[in-house]
Amino acid sequence: MNTKYVFVTGGVASSLGKGIIAASLGKLLQARGLRVTIQKFDPYINIDPGTLNPYEHGECYVTDDGAETDLDLGHYERFLGVRMSQANNVTTGRIYWTVINRERQGAYLGKTVQIVPHVTDEIKRRMLLLGKSGNYDVIVTEVGGTVGDMESQPFIEAIRQLQWEMPEEDLMSIHLTLVPYLHAAQELKTKPTQHSVQTLQAAGVHPDIIVCRTEMELSQEIRRKVALFCNVKPGHVIQSIDAPSIYQVPLNMEAEGLDEMVLEHLGIQDAQEPDFTHLKRFLDKLFHPKREIDIALVGKYVELQDAYKSILESFVHAGTVNECKVNAHTFQSEHLNASNLEEKIGKMDGILVAPGFGERGLEGKVLAIRYAREHNVPFFGVGLGMQMCVVEFARNVLGLKEAHSAEVNPSTPHPVIDLMEQQKSTTVKGGTMRLGAYDCKIKEGSLAHRIYGTNMISERHRHRYEFNNAYLDQMEAAGLKATGKNPETGLVEIVEIPTHPFFIGVQFHPEMKSAPEKPQPIFVHFVQAAMKKRQQNEKNC
Ligand code: GLN
Repeated sequence: MNTKYVFVTGGVASSLGKGIIAASLGKLLQARGLRVTIQKFDPYINIDPGTLNPYEHGECYVTDDGAETDLDLGHYERFLGVRMSQANNVTTGRIYWTVINRERQGAYLGKTVQIVPHVTDEIKRRMLLLGKSGNYDVIVTEVGGTVGDMESQPFIEAIRQLQWEMPEEDLMSIHLTLVPYLHAAQELKTKPTQHSVQTLQAAGVHPDIIVCRTEMELSQEIRRKVALFCNVKPGHVIQSIDAPSIYQVPLNMEAEGLDEMVLEHLGIQDAQEPDFTHLKRFLDKLFHPKREIDIALVGKYVELQDAYKSILESFVHAGTVNECKVNAHTFQSEHLNASNLEEKIGKMDGILVAPGFGERGLEGKVLAIRYAREHNVPFFGVGLGMQMCVVEFARNVLGLKEAHSAEVNPSTPHPVIDLMEQQKSTTVKGGTMRLGAYDCKIKEGSLAHRIYGTNMISERHRHRYEFNNAYLDQMEAAGLKATGKNPETGLVEIVEIPTHPFFIGVQFHPEMKSAPEKPQPIFVHFVQAAMKKRQQNEKNC
């Protein structure tokens, strides 16, 4: 069988959940026994989202191979359990970078370099690249942005050309739109969908299936109307109704027959019957928790949920396995101060201090960590959250009042977090951090060892600064232990306070590898520690 390609485009509005639809389709096809991966093409000019402020584009998701990618790749991994790589996320910037470098090398042999064919050829090459490996039966490609955007045009043109070049049964196109409900008129409106499909068709791409996001059930009549005016087969207009959890969406899509339609179009006849026992069991537990806990998520980008997407999803996974609903309350660290701390986070069952960059809100993070340490509240620091727990310990336990991270105070007399040696000569910001999977050796008898149940792990990284080993002996003597280190470089990856009920900071990003079927162990144990704390609090009341 030839590798099959499914393209997912979006129209009417952004944030309709194209990534979730692509991931759900991938999951359905995988459950049918097919080898599937998903890739995302983003129409912005940044080479990757690594240099983007999370307010602009949500979390930057890091892969094992160190690619800084769009957060939708996190959904793809969580849904499919398939490892993503640099090849799974391509931006306009990366396409142009390749084309322009090629031009400088003289590879275009004196030709004028143009969007068509040179840029579109490079887009097509990348669209087909993963399929060439022979590792996959189906490649689902999500095109970022909305149809009609100026910057999406070369991608849509590339799909048009592929549609023309490839056998019909090897490629198909799915268009996701919005069917809004007008409360005043009490009516669902299909006109925006019609316009969006017209725009797509004007660019030469014909959708085979239209998925309509909606708050209300779409009647047969509405579906028929959309099919008629958008020129797709009757029955090929399906709904994606608001779901209580993103993990419900694959089952909703299956109920709408999405996988059947895709298999039929792609001429795949021997697909097995899907088995969703695991997913259904997960959802059942998710929707029927036996208890709940309140966790403070202390960070800098809390106004935008997407900024901490993987952390929030990890809580869903870890909560579900513990049959516990995790209410993650976000706190803007900038707004925490000594006088409001108790009132704001005093009732929380656990405190997670988030990763991040830069100075804003750091003192609030230090205060929250001190509170957790002194009040025996379960604490989990990730990335910058770990670094700040080292700063807090240095200042308030070792008495090094001016201790800081060199990231915000390069002239501190006590850089307990310092720039990594190999970063000192780096001036370029993009793609130059310590990125991707690194091994970590864990000390036996530590909390980390109990959590992971092994002494060698691999987790993903994205940072420039590190625990300064010059302070290690002092810290350990005073009770903050380094229990996880990189075996080659000796970089400290995990710190903990063994005398505290649960206090752990990790330099890496464990949240990037959590999935419903494989909840991340630190999150699982953190939730358990918070459940215990909650029980104690209830007893004391
Ligand atoms: N800003 C810090 C660094 O670069 C921490 C980054 C992070 O949270 N991963 O080291």
